[in-house]
Amino acid sequence: MYWNINDECISRQELEELQLGRLKETLARACRAPFYRERGLGDYTIRDLSDVRKLPVTTKQDLRDAYPYGMVCTSLDEVVRLHSSSGTTGIPTVVYHSARDLHNWTELVTRCLYMMGLRRHDVFQNMIGYGLFTGGLGLHYGAERLGCLTIPTGPGNTKRQLKFMKEFKTTAIHVIPSYALHLADTLEAEGIDPRREFPDLSFAVLGAEPHSEETRRKVQDFFGIRAFNSYGLSEMNGPGVAFECPEMKGMHIWEDAYLVEIVDPDTLEPLPPGSKGEMLLTTLSREAMPIIRYRTKDLTSLVPGECACGRTHVRIARITGRSDDMMILKGVNIFPIQIESVLNNIPGVGRNYRIILEQKGHNDHMIVQVEVDPSINVDTYKSLERLRSRITRELRDELLITPEVDLREPGSIPVAEGKAVRVIDNRKL
Ligand code: ADP
Ligand code: ZN
Repeated sequence: MYWNINDECISRQELEELQLGRLKETLARACRAPFYRERGLGDYTIRDLSDVRKLPVTTKQDLRDAYPYGMVCTSLDEVVRLHSSSGTTGIPTVVYHSARDLHNWTELVTRCLYMMGLRRHDVFQNMIGYGLFTGGLGLHYGAERLGCLTIPTGPGNTKRQLKFMKEFKTTAIHVIPSYALHLADTLEAEGIDPRREFPDLSFAVLGAEPHSEETRRKVQDFFGIRAFNSYGLSEMNGPGVAFECPEMKGMHIWEDAYLVEIVDPDTLEPLPPGSKGEMLLTTLSREAMPIIRYRTKDLTSLVPGECACGRTHVRIARITGRSDDMMILKGVNIFPIQIESVLNNIPGVGRNYRIILEQKGHNDHMIVQVEVDPSINVDTYKSLERLRSRITRELRDELLITPEVDLREPGSIPVAEGKAVRVIDNRKL
């Protein structure tokens, strides 16, 4: 039932002692990184766990400012892998891992998969992106360590996914929730009953983007399987940060590896147990690049009480939103500022723009409305088409997804009175 009962069912008292020891080590280690040295991290002393609140927080922007190596606290010889956020124009955020970091990360992911019910005889089809994203490789190594037959299909190519699922008798799939629904649509359109077609399929790991209980239920009912919520972010390794147990009442967050705080996103003050706020995470066992009090910007709450599964690590509720303007489309993170910088560098683009997010079937769809510059002759079809295709191409290169570009006459996009409203999200979660 447990991958490692001693780690997963450790008593609260022992867990907190372990956390305190690891927090002190992490702090000492982090001080070797130029970024944290400059922050004066060496001036802080930790006596008990609540002292973490005195430490400065770390933001995504800090990771960019420290680019490329400002947060690395081992010699580069020790570093064996990096993962990075998408985007080609802005400064990327990069996370570095030592061999021990990769070992520990894999161990956490294996723990999650075992908890879900996966065993050596299972066949794990990984439909999440490999490469710089953490989802593909993260789950891949975890499934292999468990001893599963692991199929690295990556995302897309639905026909082949379905063929592999049938022919290799896949028992577990790892998918972004919207793709799981797309698979369901495809099967439905072809009149295929998934319970007959894939009698061995038992589990889905749903990760990388927010989704509702209703989406989970749809996936479960359609395929006749159990679908588990998987949470992670590249700054904290990637997948394997928090994961549902078979009780499915919140995701256990692995507190031997991460120290969790739920704070008010405006004041950063701690919130009473059970209230919803922004989650801050501190790595407790990372060697090459520890991160202190990372502002995940994800909104959630701690689930009160003990879990019937016997694991002592606290649970977090489903993520309900973000405290910043990051959008997640098809599992890809996008900030409005990325779109703005692309638009700003294209001659013929006017003053205002707006991003509309829609759902087309189960797929996310982005429409970017762009006012054209008054110098553009809106009656000339050719010049408008040229502008539209250039904007589409440049946005696609930056965002890795293709938006629909809707050119508008100058002054036609409503201007908000206060803070500009750049994103209108009409999607149903
Ligand atoms: P990934 O490559 O897995 O998308 P990123 O670091 O790019 O990792 O994105 C992490 C963000 O994705 C999280 O901060 C969160 O906003 C979102 N996310 C990941 N998993 C989930 C989940 N299960 N539920 C809701 N949001 C999630
Ligand atoms: Zn549990």
